[in-house]
Amino acid sequence: MNCKVITNVIIFTVNATDRIIKNGTVVIENGIIKSVGHKEEVSIPLYADEIIDGKNKMALLPGFVDTHNHSSLIKGVAENKKLIEWLPEYDLEHRTCTEEDTYHASRLCYLECLKNGTTTIMDMYRFMHRSAEAAGELGIRLHLAPYAADVLPYTFFESTGSNEEAIKTLHMSQNGRIRVWAGLEDLFYCSQPMYENAVRMQKEYGVGIHTHGCEQMEEEQTVIRKFGKSTIDVLGQRGLLGKKTLLAHCVWINEGDMKKMADTGTSLAHCPVSAAKLGCGIARTPLMKSMGVNVSLGTDGPIDNNSMDLFQEMKFASLIQKATHCDALVFGAKEMLRMATINGARSLNMEDEIGSIETGKSADLILVDCFRPNLQPIYWEGDETNLLWNMVFSAHGSNVDTVLVQGEILLRNGKSTKVDEAKVITEAQKQGIDWMKRRKLHEQEILRPIE
Ligand SMILES: [Zn+2]
Repeated sequence: MNCKVITNVIIFTVNATDRIIKNGTVVIENGIIKSVGHKEEVSIPLYADEIIDGKNKMALLPGFVDTHNHSSLIKGVAENKKLIEWLPEYDLEHRTCTEEDTYHASRLCYLECLKNGTTTIMDMYRFMHRSAEAAGELGIRLHLAPYAADVLPYTFFESTGSNEEAIKTLHMSQNGRIRVWAGLEDLFYCSQPMYENAVRMQKEYGVGIHTHGCEQMEEEQTVIRKFGKSTIDVLGQRGLLGKKTLLAHCVWINEGDMKKMADTGTSLAHCPVSAAKLGCGIARTPLMKSMGVNVSLGTDGPIDNNSMDLFQEMKFASLIQKATHCDALVFGAKEMLRMATINGARSLNMEDEIGSIETGKSADLILVDCFRPNLQPIYWEGDETNLLWNMVFSAHGSNVDTVLVQGEILLRNGKSTKVDEAKVITEAQKQGIDWMKRRKLHEQEILRPIE
């Protein structure tokens, strides 16, 4: 048996009462949290293999869950474009994407995510057996949602066949760190049979479905024109809404649609930075949350966020709502921390396994170094601390010191324990330049996705 102990840390449990423990200890046995509590309550087993001493300078949080990402090497390239102009650029990326591109993009992106405290990613991409390979090298948890499309001319994306093959060969591999869902681009890229197949795979293999929707105003207007109903209604009619479905974006949805999401238990991957950067608008997440929708956070990946740091995402998601509602009480620190952790776990149907620091859950944990100017000073009043607010509004990914997944240390002193970071970066740089050259050759083939 392997036993690790983390002690002398401030623990943000994100349990049902959002308990914060001033000087806590966590015991991990075979990757599972065995006990958690005040230092005096939890005894350190004599057989412990390793004791990680936070020296009262570290905070322990559940690892972050990024519920919508597209790993890529195209970053800072298709800029200053509205979504409608940006989508053809994205098509160009996918027309030229190779297995090698996927591998190097995944390695670079997952390394960035890991260094920023993300332990689980929902990635929607191509050639995802190579994404799984990259995740295996780093040790990160990965949900694969193959980027499937079958409407002409988008047949260069993944297919139902390749999606099903990934489910059969990769789902629950790497000790359960890899899970595979049915992935669907959107209503303009995927035919009705493709949706039916996604629902079939959901039933047959017990996997989830991940897709985009209602990202941009013109997009939703076109859906209503073409299908005679809203995206949510089309998805509902096709049997997609439910606890095992995760929708990204949902910026342009009406209150009736929100209620349908809440009633069916359909989760949201809210990507506020991406939606702002692409000029899509601001999702009405406080309303959705008050109606009972599970709201989690996604970065949407490097191509349209340029960053994959859920500390940034928490801060921005809160501030943009406070600003638009002219209400300082909207989306406080506790809520934001839940969105980045337990709500993300719920979005992936993993709330019994990850997302909080509780006995019986997997030790997917991050240690944040608080002995830094941006996280000092720390005050306490009983069990309340200003560090909660500073964790959301002052901290950033570079404060992350240590990352564990299933009790395995993947990051120590801010560095990967599993890969040579310089090699990952150098190889990604080389591959990126090659990809940009190939992309240039196909520029004349840029397509317009919505007519
Ligand atoms: Zn997306």
